[in-house]
This record gives sequence, structure tokens and C-alpha cells, in this order.
Amino acid sequence: MSLTEPAELVPGLDRWRDLPAAQQPEWPDRAALDAVLATLSTVPPIVAPSEVDALRAQLADVAQGKAFLLQGGDCAETFDLNTEPHLQATTRTLLQMAVVLTYGASVPVVKVGRVAGQYAKPRSSNIDALGLPSYRGDMVNSFDPDPVQRIPDPNRLVRAYANSAAAMNMIRAYARGGLADLHAVHHWNQDFVASSPAGVRYEVIAQEIDRALGFMRACGVDDSALRSVELFNSHEALILDYERALMRMHEGRPYALSAHFVWVGERTRQMDGAHIEFAANLANPVGVKIGPTTTPEQAVELVERLDPDGLPGKLTLISRMGNGKIRDVLPGIVEKVTASGHQVVWQCDPMHGNTHESPSGYKTRHFDRVVDEVLGFFDVHRSLGTWPGGIHVELTGEDVTECLGGAMEISDEDLSSRYETACDPRLNTGQSLELAFLVAEMLRG
Ligand code: PEP
Ligand code: MN
Repeated sequence: MSLTEPAELVPGLDRWRDLPAAQQPEWPDRAALDAVLATLSTVPPIVAPSEVDALRAQLADVAQGKAFLLQGGDCAETFDLNTEPHLQATTRTLLQMAVVLTYGASVPVVKVGRVAGQYAKPRSSNIDALGLPSYRGDMVNSFDPDPVQRIPDPNRLVRAYANSAAAMNMIRAYARGGLADLHAVHHWNQDFVASSPAGVRYEVIAQEIDRALGFMRACGVDDSALRSVELFNSHEALILDYERALMRMHEGRPYALSAHFVWVGERTRQMDGAHIEFAANLANPVGVKIGPTTTPEQAVELVERLDPDGLPGKLTLISRMGNGKIRDVLPGIVEKVTASGHQVVWQCDPMHGNTHESPSGYKTRHFDRVVDEVLGFFDVHRSLGTWPGGIHVELTGEDVTECLGGAMEISDEDLSSRYETACDPRLNTGQSLELAFLVAEMLRG
């Protein structure tokens, strides 16, 4: 495999450079940035084209109703928390959810972490509540509330690359090690069911899974598929200079090899902007967030730009409408996109449309609204006869107190005890598993 063909051979590949790019850092020193980008343009990438192609094939199955997509992880990864325990906890939670969802859906679950590269954040304001330049993710500046630390530093791009590579190295090991053993994952789920105040509700599914595993054991099924998984990674393609530097050519096609899957966010999806132009050229499967103001016409335009060749699963439309809007806004979009003939993955992000400030001043989300948005998503697809392809959630494998509600009934007063996110509030382990059990129930109709 050669990844060294000059990208210049692809006409129009760098047209994005002439278009307005929202949310880009104001780097203080262009020469320093260029030096960093030159380095990044020759390093071994984070992922390989063959893996990216494998994910695209699996997403084609999702688009055609033959698989389900689970995507989750931190809102913003940080260098400080890029630790073995943190990665292991995130992976473990994702795998636990995947087992429950696999049983619920009776189809393979494609597992994608928001991990090993989710280091850049779009912000609604350039200035934060303290009057400082906003934190834009560890790839750009520091979370520390210090004006000097908030100046964008291009050396952070190298640290983002190095941290992503180290994280991906661990994730590949987990995918083939004990964390991926189906029986072990099921035992963790049984522990959750036994200890959760909402456990009885989930006992039936857990027992059914137990019986299914017992049946397979009795039949002598001992396949390596029960001891290893495929785990993919993803992040928002926000800082285009970074994404471009990690792009490589493979068999004449440009791959963003910073991750298997990248998406364009709600704040950067302008049709005539740089991000859509950049994403439109990639061989990777890509996503785009669609918020409550998206019209069916805009959705079709996005689909035509981002899936120009009409490849099933090439594009994932990630709706993040808010629980109060999804039932009104999504149906028209699904109908018009379906009529266009493109086979997209429909994915529900029940987080970003349901953020509010709590009386105590924390940015939070209520578990009930998260669940209701997913319910609305399933309702819409059920009534239109389309496949509710997957969910996209912000979660962590730790017992944080960032989102309200759930079986532990996290209240406004509880938020301060473990509010640790560098950006948006995440579901904790218990809330994530509860969501998986509830979605499994929805999948079973
Ligand atoms: C995110 O996924 O963290 C995010 C910023 O989402 P959105 O673009 O939907 O606001
Ligand atoms: Mn977020």
C-alpha cells in the first residue's frame, strides 16, 4: 500500500482553501503552523485506508437496515484525560451498550468511538463567560482560564496527533483482548442490572441474553467472533489544516486518515463553506449534523454534495433536533431524502438539541429528554417505513454527574459533585447502559 501519491493529482481537492471556513483558530504565527503541518503531512496516519473501506461497507449495511450504528464518547477529549483508565472505561461502556443493542436489534452493531482525535470544538461565542477567548479544544488552546494559555498554539496539533495515535493503539489492543470477550461484557451488564435501581426493568433482556449465550455454549459455539470486536474511531472534522495534513492518497482517492469516520458539525455545514467542500472529496464515510432549522431541501442538497456517487452508507445524517422538535422536523427530511434515491444512514444524536442551563449554572441535559428524542426518532422511522439506523451519544465510562435524571435520579444539587467535562455534559456509565436497554426495547418494537 502506498500512501505517498501527490494529492495535487486530484483536481479541485484543495478548493476548500478558497471558501469561507467557520470556526478556525486565529493562529498567531503562520510560519510555525506551516512547519507543524509539514511534519504532519509525512507521519504515519492514525488509521489505514483498508479499515476506512471496511467501515464504509458496514455502514452500507446500516443504510440498508441490516446493521445498527452505535457511536459515542466524550464531547471533547483532553490530553490530560487521554489515560489508560479513561480509554478503557469509554471502550468498556461502548461494548456493554453494543451487546445489549445487538440483542435488541438482532443485527450486527457497528461500533464507533468519539475517540482518538475528538480534540477540537466549535463554539457559539469567541469569548467565554469569564471574558476570555473561548476554549476550542486541546488541539487548539488550553482549557485553563488563562489568557495566555487560550492563544492558539500550532504545536498542539502535533500533540493531538500523538495522543490520537497512542489512544488508537490501545483501542486496537482492547478490540482483540479481554475487554472484547462477549461473556465478560455480558457479566458486567449483569452486575449493572443487579446494582441499578432500575435493574428490574432490564432483567428480562439480560436474562434472555444469558440464555442465548448458554445455548451457544451448549452447542459448542466457540468462535473468535465471541472474543474480538471491530472498533472504529471518529471525530468532528473541524480544523481543516489538521485534517488536510493527515489526508493521504490511496489508489487515487483522498482519505482523511485522522480517523475512520469524520463529520461536519451543525455550525460548519454551510453549503458554500469550506467544511462541506472538504468533506465532499473524501473517500471516508462522512457524517453531517442536522439541527432543528434544517429544511428538507437543505438536507437533499447536503446529501447530493456529500454522497455524489450515490453509495449506500457513504453519508450519515445525524439529526439533533431536540425532543420537542424531532417529531415535526424529521419526517419531511426523511421523506425528501428517501425520494432522492440516496441511501443514507439515519442516526439520532439525542444530546445536542437538549442542552439547557440548570438553576445552579451548569450546562446540562435531562436523561428523560434524551430518551424521548430517541423515541421520537424511532416513531418517525416506524411511520415512514425507514430504518432508524443508529444513535450518537456523548458518554463516559465514569460515574460523573453531568446529565440530570436516570435511575440514580441525578438532581441539580448533584451536578457539582462530579462535573468533569471539558465541554458538553455526558451520560455517565449507568445512564449510558440504561439508554442502551431502552433502545433495545425500542428496536424490538
Ligand atoms: C458535538 O457533537 O460535540 C457538537 C458540537 O455537535 P453539533 O455540531 O451538533 O452542535
Ligand atoms: Mn458536544
